[in-house]
Amino acid sequence: MTEPQQDIAITAPILIIEDDVGFASLMASTLDEEGLTSHCTTNGNQALEWLASCAPSLIILDYTLPDMTGASFIERLRDMGHTSPFIMVTGRDDSSLAVQMMKTGAYDYLLKDVSFLDRLPTVVIRALHDVETRDRLERAKHSLRQSESRLARAQKIARMGSWEWNIRNGDVYWSDELYRIFGLTPGNPEKISMDWVFGRVNPTDLPALEKALTLSATTCQPFNIVYRINSHSDGEIVVNSQGEVECGEDGLPLLISATTLDITARIKAESEIQQLINYDTLTGLPNRNLLHDRLKLSIAQAAREQHLVGILILDLDRFKGINDTLGHRAGDNLLMTVSKRLAACVRDSDTLARLGGDEFVVVLNNVLNEEAITIVAKKILAIISEPIYIDGHEIYITVSIGIAVYPMNGEDSHTLLKHADLAMYQAKELDRNNFQFFSREMNIKVLERMMLENSMRKALERGEFFLVYQPQVDARSRRIVGMEALLRWNHPDLGLLVPDRFIYLAEETGFIIPIGEWVLRTACRQNKRWQDMGYEPVRVAVNLSGKQFDQNQLDESIAAILMETGLDPQWLEIEITESAIMKSPELSIGMLRKLKDMGITLAIDDFGTGYSSLSYLKHFPIRRLKIDRSFVRDIITNPDDAAIAEIIIAMAHTLKLDVIAEGVETRAQMEFLSFHNCVEMQGYLFSRPVRTDDFTELLKKGLKP
Ligand code: C2E
Ligand code: MG
Ligand code: MG
Repeated sequence: MTEPQQDIAITAPILIIEDDVGFASLMASTLDEEGLTSHCTTNGNQALEWLASCAPSLIILDYTLPDMTGASFIERLRDMGHTSPFIMVTGRDDSSLAVQMMKTGAYDYLLKDVSFLDRLPTVVIRALHDVETRDRLERAKHSLRQSESRLARAQKIARMGSWEWNIRNGDVYWSDELYRIFGLTPGNPEKISMDWVFGRVNPTDLPALEKALTLSATTCQPFNIVYRINSHSDGEIVVNSQGEVECGEDGLPLLISATTLDITARIKAESEIQQLINYDTLTGLPNRNLLHDRLKLSIAQAAREQHLVGILILDLDRFKGINDTLGHRAGDNLLMTVSKRLAACVRDSDTLARLGGDEFVVVLNNVLNEEAITIVAKKILAIISEPIYIDGHEIYITVSIGIAVYPMNGEDSHTLLKHADLAMYQAKELDRNNFQFFSREMNIKVLERMMLENSMRKALERGEFFLVYQPQVDARSRRIVGMEALLRWNHPDLGLLVPDRFIYLAEETGFIIPIGEWVLRTACRQNKRWQDMGYEPVRVAVNLSGKQFDQNQLDESIAAILMETGLDPQWLEIEITESAIMKSPELSIGMLRKLKDMGITLAIDDFGTGYSSLSYLKHFPIRRLKIDRSFVRDIITNPDDAAIAEIIIAMAHTLKLDVIAEGVETRAQMEFLSFHNCVEMQGYLFSRPVRTDDFTELLKKGLKP
């Protein structure tokens, strides 16, 4: 019986070299019966040719070949680098030849006798088995060697050394890599003591290391500790040692075995990451992230010690302009100079951080009163305003500072920073180059703003807006020649609101667009209604904010409203303030012309407050100037105001413009204006702005004499 062969994974064929073709095919078919494939060749050269491209699992070789001997064939085979095992077949019973063949490396030999074909499979399969086992062992050894060298390489790459310390006799074993970690040549010094090791540990870290080892030895618990050592070649490096204790049969600690890993690079990478997370790359100052951490600590400390903390947010004035004109590199240099100057103003115990852009934060710790904060703020203003020289340019820069104080202005870092920020904006709104302490009023303003903004979203659809109308009067005849539509907001919580309380917000948020459209539509519709009711047609003046002029299709939307309400354009007057026009003159002129072409009249509101030059005004398609009520108010008592009013009136006449005075409250004011040929007036003297029904009454009955 042949041995089972399914456990032999033979994929390569067996090479048969036999000049007797009949005998060869007999061998092949015998092997085939056992499930073994074979390839037959009839001489040595033919076989070598085949072997050039194929690797057989086994070679069955006839010793006497027509072109060479078996021995020389094997020689040639080995020269080609083939390691295939082979079995010699010989026709003679020659034991000396058999020994010779075995010496050349034959696995076995077979005699061509009567039992040859019977024995062939057994010998072949046994050979294949042995070869297979031999190969497997080779492979295992190879992979072991590989994994060993891989481990060694890995340890080297990871810079991991291992060591053992026999606690009882003090012997210390070090791996080669550990020597290298310490910057030493392996084996030198040959004997190492733990005291010698401790002598190379950073003195600050030594107590912790000794403690960890002692604790581990007494409790038999593993240890894991990071410490710094002085490497012979690399100076101070950081290592991590992990190890455990082996106890003897008596249960007492015997041996500490541990690994030591050089983690300097990792620590460096980690600290680089930390640096990136916590510090501003340009200035190296703490960034927002670290600022919050530091501020939290400051607050906690101040709470314990009953101190104040001053939080100063600094924003450079007009930094963007410098960046744009001189370039970003100059901008960066400027920021670095500023950060250095700021650093000079604060103590080491304080925090100076950069929030990004041109915003810096100073946290003043251990502050006793606001006076101390004021001193620093003043110092900062002074030092920043010193000229800065960059790329041959002399740059003057100023800074606006907002200040919040713990605990008065907030108890946590977020609130404090937010409030300091608000104060900073206040400082910017004032003259810049100044500092502002956060105040409760600022907060109320902000809260109200938030509340208003939210409720404004719904105000239109909830019908909370309404218009009041104030008559514009010909003072000589007291006839109503027009009216101004003024917006009111019936706020559900705050009650009646006048425009000054919310128009700025509507402008900032963009709500002014739909609101303005609603005002126009409502005013036009109402004016048309009064005309339909049979009253003599008069103009309705509607205020437009500058934001509305920024819309490209303002003319189209006004045209649509006129169409929709059926009001003739000549009865609509648009009021725009002098300051709104001054903000973007080019844009306004185009739009104003379009409106004029539509037949709408234009009035300049609050005239006299915006310093428009006369020549400039000529370019505008204006119908009317409205003298601002601030001049009218003091027209009797203040000669300057009187003079201005007079000039405006004269100027209007020269330019062939109509003129109207607003805010007329007294007879004296009326008479002065009349005397100087200002005929049209608007003001409480004639009527306050009134609701629609009351205005209908005015139209019906006329003004009271
Ligand atoms: P304005 O266009 O100069 O409106 C005249 C303001 O003077 C009105 O205040 C009016 O009530 C007030 N006034 C009238 N006669 C007198 C008087 O004799 N004495 C005094 N002291 N004041 C008088 P109001 O209604 O609070 O409007 C304030 C400003 O809000 C307006 O100034 C206008 O610029 C703006 N505004 C009003 N309605 C709208 C609107 O629908 N859209 C836009 N964009 N702004 C509007
Ligand atoms: Mg107005
Ligand atoms: Mg006005």
